[in-house]
Amino acid sequence: MRSLGADVVEVRLPKHLEALDAFIIPGGESTTIGRLAVLYGLVEPMRDAIGAGLPVLGTCAGMIILASGTLEGDQPQLGALDVVVRRNAFGRQVDSYEAPIEVAGWSEPMVGVFIRAPWIAKAGDDVEVLASVEDADTGESHPVFVRQGTVLATAFHPELTQDTRVHEMLLSMAAAAKED
Ligand code: GLN
Repeated sequence: MRSLGADVVEVRLPKHLEALDAFIIPGGESTTIGRLAVLYGLVEPMRDAIGAGLPVLGTCAGMIILASGTLEGDQPQLGALDVVVRRNAFGRQVDSYEAPIEVAGWSEPMVGVFIRAPWIAKAGDDVEVLASVEDADTGESHPVFVRQGTVLATAFHPELTQDTRVHEMLLSMAAAAKED
């Protein structure tokens, strides 16, 4: 984000959400992020800010936090994105991989870095699917990059590549939201 000219602040407490033009929920471990978000009183403030139109990008665990449900157990989720995710959908750490993925509307594919990544098992009608991957075992296709209004989510880690197109999308959403 800095390389694209954005000023970056870390969000650790609700007050850090106040002056943002856009927000990123990063990858990591969604149970840990969820637990800390509850502990620091961030769940409702995040939900309110996103509900009020603050553009947000969730990557990997961040996508899980944004989602409305998971297939396995319960954990704090914001319900900002009308999808149900399968955590660790590609398998264990050793099944982490990189592969080029085709994104709707882009002429060049991007490299998707999947690290114990989720995929989307079910998406609501308002969710625009920008990229999917095929499950080699079943041949079924699962969304891994989606947009719903001002909510953007990737199952992979765009920040681990030099490709800034996903982050640029977030910045254009922020610029558009400012004009409204
Ligand atoms: N497997 C993690 C989870 O379930 C996500 C991994 C990641 O963010 N790279 O939350």
